Amino acid sequence: MMNRIAAAALTALALSAQGCAPITAQAPVATTTAAIPRAEQPAACPATGAALQVLGSGGPLAEWAGGEGRAGTSYLLWIDGTPRLLIDAGSGSFLRFAEAGGKLASLDAILLTHLHADHAGDLGDVLNSGGFETRTAPLPVIGPDSAERFPGTGEFLARLLGKDAGAFAYNGGFIDGSEAKFRLDPRDIPTAAGTAAAAGLDVSNDYSVVAHPVNHGPAPALGYVIEWNGKAVVITGDQSALSERFLADLTGAKPVILFAHHVINGAEGQPRGLHRTPAQIGELAGALAPARLVLTHNMQRSLAPMAESLAAISAGYAGAVTVAADLDCYAL
Ligand SMILES: [Zn+2]
Ligand SMILES: [Zn+2]
Repeated sequence: MMNRIAAAALTALALSAQGCAPITAQAPVATTTAAIPRAEQPAACPATGAALQVLGSGGPLAEWAGGEGRAGTSYLLWIDGTPRLLIDAGSGSFLRFAEAGGKLASLDAILLTHLHADHAGDLGDVLNSGGFETRTAPLPVIGPDSAERFPGTGEFLARLLGKDAGAFAYNGGFIDGSEAKFRLDPRDIPTAAGTAAAAGLDVSNDYSVVAHPVNHGPAPALGYVIEWNGKAVVITGDQSALSERFLADLTGAKPVILFAHHVINGAEGQPRGLHRTPAQIGELAGALAPARLVLTHNMQRSLAPMAESLAAISAGYAGAVTVAADLDCYAL
């Protein structure tokens, strides 16, 4: 397990809110992340009930700092100890999926927020591994529709795996269900730069999932709301403040957790306008009123100025804020 950075007061606050047993903290290491309010979530999800595990808490940069690295974005929904939904499969999440005990055989679907590499880069590998499991039922893969330089979800899979021209054409059995592979059942959700209507996804009778189109610059993108037993978790996905319909649809939703994808806008090498700034995350959290806000999609450039970011967020949202690490498990 990676180093756990203690931030005693905020951690205690988070733990008391969450009611979970603390993991014994290792000695803090000298790092710029020392002031980060870590959630200290257990890396093993509970055997009963629903939980969302953060497989990958990082962004597109390959970084190693303070004794830990972060895979690109990925989440795994557990219901009563069984993995049921994989949401994104960013770079590096293949290994985290294995560490978490993930299996494709029991998944109801794979959901994709968008087709940037830090969210979909390991999808082919996760599927390839799943091909060695015993699954025979088709597997829905649900994600955004197409735009210039972004294939839609179905086309993405065809370009990745298709027998004729796929990059991994040898795995083309996933497209048509031949060669002892389970068939992928892709679905493109209309996004219209974040202005399209939310779409309910009929993937399970045990919980509901709604895909909410968001604005992420030129990339068609979705956020997701998962609701189980009257408790909702909201995943913003990568989204800019132009995601006005997302904000309007979910204002007052009061989810148990809001996972916000956190990026410092305009940092060196970072295209502008693709993400909410910390202040805009605070505004969003203030409107949705989650019991807790968890920042993920973390990179050193967003972790280093955390004190300023937390101050900016607090202008809009007064609740608990913590920062996710890979494999953190959040019970609903
Ligand atoms: Zn991203
Ligand atoms: Zn992105």
